[in-house]
Amino acid sequence: MSSLKTIGIIGAGQMGCGIAHVSAMAGYKVHIYDLAQDRIESGLATINGNLARQVASGKMTDEERKAALGRITGSNDLNDLAQVDLAIEAATEDESVKRKIYAQVCPVLKPEAILATNTSSLSITRLASATDRPERFMGIHFMNPVPVMKLVELVRGIATEESTFSAAKAYVTSLEKTITVAEDFPAFIVNRILLPMINEAIYTLYEGVGTVDAIDTAMKLGANHPMGPLQLADFIGLDTCLSIMQVLHDGLADSKYRPCPLLVKYVEAGWLGRKSGRGFYDYRGEVPVPTR
Ligand code: NAD
Repeated sequence: MSSLKTIGIIGAGQMGCGIAHVSAMAGYKVHIYDLAQDRIESGLATINGNLARQVASGKMTDEERKAALGRITGSNDLNDLAQVDLAIEAATEDESVKRKIYAQVCPVLKPEAILATNTSSLSITRLASATDRPERFMGIHFMNPVPVMKLVELVRGIATEESTFSAAKAYVTSLEKTITVAEDFPAFIVNRILLPMINEAIYTLYEGVGTVDAIDTAMKLGANHPMGPLQLADFIGLDTCLSIMQVLHDGLADSKYRPCPLLVKYVEAGWLGRKSGRGFYDYRGEVPVPTR
């Protein structure tokens, strides 16, 4: 373990729960905060289900599952983050949401606590400027699903101090993840490359070059990708995909990053992928069914 003992997670969505899961497994005390108690409860149920799957597949014992779960608490009271050594914000990919959270959480955190963001694309330097501690702020970008994916991108803002970076590095290393360091440019490394590919797959669908099934099969069997790009988009969340494309488009001012209008339409419909039950596939039945 690192010198950090208690981790606070802001946002009990797909990513917040995954980060809580791996942190508790590594022995950290974890507190999860979200806006409403029902989100905390469904998050804790998800973590328990994922831990139970690891027990079933022989990756951990039931005692380890119980111990990990026992290290996680959750509430919708921001004041419960007062004791954490590291707070990781994993809330919705929207700069105004994140700024509002920092304004509320900074006065609650210990002055020496580190604040990190799991943002997929937003400027770390700009987010840092919305906090009272730019030198103790940085990006710790986990991949989805967190318990499975080996990589974590570390991103410094212009003001991030070396002690902040080394504490984050020690924490991530203690989770048995591999680190890659990215500079603070829109969408960093993984999403700078991945999201334009996904956006192009959506254009391919939009222009009628292929169906959902044809595009995903083509990329799985033709490019040896473990998941088709439209299946992956649903998995990431179409709202998150759109936000990342908008950040690339605005930040790099190049029309090649223009979000596909079909992606915009799906998000406007509330078809956000797996998490809302429907995206490029409909997940409400026994097996996912393409929606186009
Ligand atoms: P999600 O939609 O599953 O969860 C977001 C959570 O944030 C929700 O539970 C929501 O209630 C909560 N939230 C919103 N406003 C809040 C507030 N003011 N205070 C506290 N909680 C609030 O999203 P996600 O996929 O978990 O993504 C979260 C972050 O992680 C985003 O910044 C995203 O870009 C990043 N990320 C996502 C992925 C991915 O594949 N989905 C991968 C890496 C990083």
